[in-house]
Amino acid sequence: MLYNYFEPMDNYDPSTNEYDVIFVGGGAGGRFGSTYFKAMGGKQLTIEKDGHLGGKCPKNACVIHHYLFDIAVELDLARILDDKKWYPKLPTGKGKVEIVPMIEDYLKGRDEAYDVMYYQSKSQLNLEFILNREAEIVDKNTVIVDGKTFKTKNLVIGSGSRAAIPNVPGKDLSGVYSYANFLELDYEPKNVVVVGASKTGMPWASFFNAVGCNTTMIDMNPFLTAFNLDDEIKEYIIDGMKLRDMNLMENTALSSINGNGHVESVTVERKDGSKETIKADMVFVGTGCIPNSEIAAPLGVEIGGGNEIVVDSHMKTSVPGIYAIGDVTGGPMEMWKARKAGMVASKNILGMEADLDITSFPDFLHTTYEITWVGMTEKEAREKLEKVFVIRMPIKDYPGHCPIPLAERTMLLSHIHPGLNGMQKAIYDGETRMLLGAQHVGYGAKDSFQYLDHLIRKGITIDEIANMNELFLNPTHYIQLSRLRAGMKSLVDLT
Ligand SMILES: Cc1cc2nc3c(=O)[nH]c(=O)nc-3n(C[C@H](O)[C@H](O)[C@H](O)COP(=O)(O)OP(=O)(O)OC[C@H]3O[C@@H](n4cnc5c(N)ncnc54)[C@H](O)[C@@H]3O)c2cc1C
Repeated sequence: MLYNYFEPMDNYDPSTNEYDVIFVGGGAGGRFGSTYFKAMGGKQLTIEKDGHLGGKCPKNACVIHHYLFDIAVELDLARILDDKKWYPKLPTGKGKVEIVPMIEDYLKGRDEAYDVMYYQSKSQLNLEFILNREAEIVDKNTVIVDGKTFKTKNLVIGSGSRAAIPNVPGKDLSGVYSYANFLELDYEPKNVVVVGASKTGMPWASFFNAVGCNTTMIDMNPFLTAFNLDDEIKEYIIDGMKLRDMNLMENTALSSINGNGHVESVTVERKDGSKETIKADMVFVGTGCIPNSEIAAPLGVEIGGGNEIVVDSHMKTSVPGIYAIGDVTGGPMEMWKARKAGMVASKNILGMEADLDITSFPDFLHTTYEITWVGMTEKEAREKLEKVFVIRMPIKDYPGHCPIPLAERTMLLSHIHPGLNGMQKAIYDGETRMLLGAQHVGYGAKDSFQYLDHLIRKGITIDEIANMNELFLNPTHYIQLSRLRAGMKSLVDLT
């Protein structure tokens, strides 16, 4: 291994008098911003207090979330087909599968990922960095690390965010987890309460349920209100979780976590004031993240109501020469935003005007399905436009069990459990024939939504989509379904 988690790891030229920019935080924003800056010919230094570059994504956020999703999908199919066809009977009782060994495997793989990122940053990208030590910002031109002073013309703060834990009695009991300490789990939970039907809560709850824990998910709001999805898609997702025996409680707030040293139960309160106590030996909190802006407060930069550093579209803070990027600037807290913000800050520092547009973007979440969406919902389109055209699968009023959509990973379900094979729709402007938005519940479509986002911005029409070359069977059926209607002058829904 090249990488050593515990030792200071430096890769910088100590004779440098002044940097063009110092990035505080080597997460997604800091690493990509630094790399872009370096590539454009600037002199950068990146300071990261953890022992690796890349921030929370490989450490305990995106990668573990996808890892658990993958396991949940495998176990979901194994549960649906438990002891049927060529599937063996799952272990005992409800079939609890052990979580701790999964975490051990993850941690081994994570070291390899850190190593690759270290190699790439040092040997291929030639970044200058300091690892394993915290940056102390003195003023906008001065940063101290371990007593050594570094001078800089500009400062970029990419200090990320941390888990937001509701301030309820019992929040510090052992057995209360968030993404941040989940990898420290050292026992096998049986009864899990997940707080927050969020982009973190949903995949973790689906994972716990799939391994065989009795799983309850609560949210103080109606489920999925935060996501730009049509009601029928939301219903499909929620029905899918109910069908898999998850206990779902919306409009229900966490009142207290109870126990003597370790979690024993959770008390919740419904909107109507009624309370219920649920047995639990683990609580997983997925109630969002708070920006780590404290480091910037002494510099006099404006801090917003959500504890975020306020920036303009150039990533400039209220103090000239100080920029902020990624999660520390508030939502959306996503990798694309952190990485692009780093790139935008770098360009602006080097005098090339650039903006970060966060007004629209493709998005996704995981249950035991991958759910992706982009652009307008059907509801939104019908409210705004005269004529809207929609394609949809499965067919709404089909009297039998509709085995379509179908593609890789849903082939088996389509044939033996039609109904569990997903749902998808695309929304067009009936006048201009332009694609407005799309939503997909299934597998393998996420990649295409990155490009759909771009094509929607470019104004792609149904006629152009109908002229694309599909790789049939394709997870998104948009090309072939659009082709079935594109011959029409006046488009008629295909739902
Ligand atoms: C559970 C979970 C799952 C997620 N899954 C996805 C996903 O699948 N896809 C996606 O796009 N996004 C996902 N996200 C969001 C994504 O992880 C973040 O948006 C992204 O990591 C933000 O990058 P960042 O650089 O702003 O911050 P971070 O990655 O948090 O990096 C900030 C870095 O700054 C360092 N730092 C802080 N203070 C100092 C200091 N004083 N000195 C030196 N270093 C310092 C920290 O150690 C940290 O490494 C997920 C988030 C969570 C919580």
